[in-house]
Amino acid sequence: MADTKKHYSLFDMGTFASLAGKEVDGAKGRIMLGAALGLTGCEISVNSTPAGKFAPFVHSHKLNEEVYIIVSGNGVFHVDGDEFPVKEGSVIRVAPDGKRAVKAGDQALTYICIQAQAGSLTQATMEDGIINEEKTSWME
Ligand code: ZN
Repeated sequence: MADTKKHYSLFDMGTFASLAGKEVDGAKGRIMLGAALGLTGCEISVNSTPAGKFAPFVHSHKLNEEVYIIVSGNGVFHVDGDEFPVKEGSVIRVAPDGKRAVKAGDQALTYICIQAQAGSLTQATMEDGIINEEKTSWME
């Protein structure tokens, strides 16, 4: 569990290659970062699906949109009947109602999935960030 006394949490998930030996609620090759980091505004899973494998269902969400960031490998993504190839560098946003599934191609497909409530983001980077006076050890 994350240390909530500090303004940060650090978790070592291991290498992406080590995902193959991990499992969450029967889902092999997955870790969830929400509890590990004490996330309060989103959930993040890190996943590795072996070559040619896939979860045997299509799913959608009640409230959350998802962003899938393909870290390595290749595969096919399905959303509402559209199917398209994905590979390292592909980033896919799926609305809550989107009926989605993913299948690894001839390489293992490693991806990060971030989910957050659709419409919940009211400000980001430039509107939300504040430059502070504090300095680090690498600043003069
Ligand atoms: Zn989902």
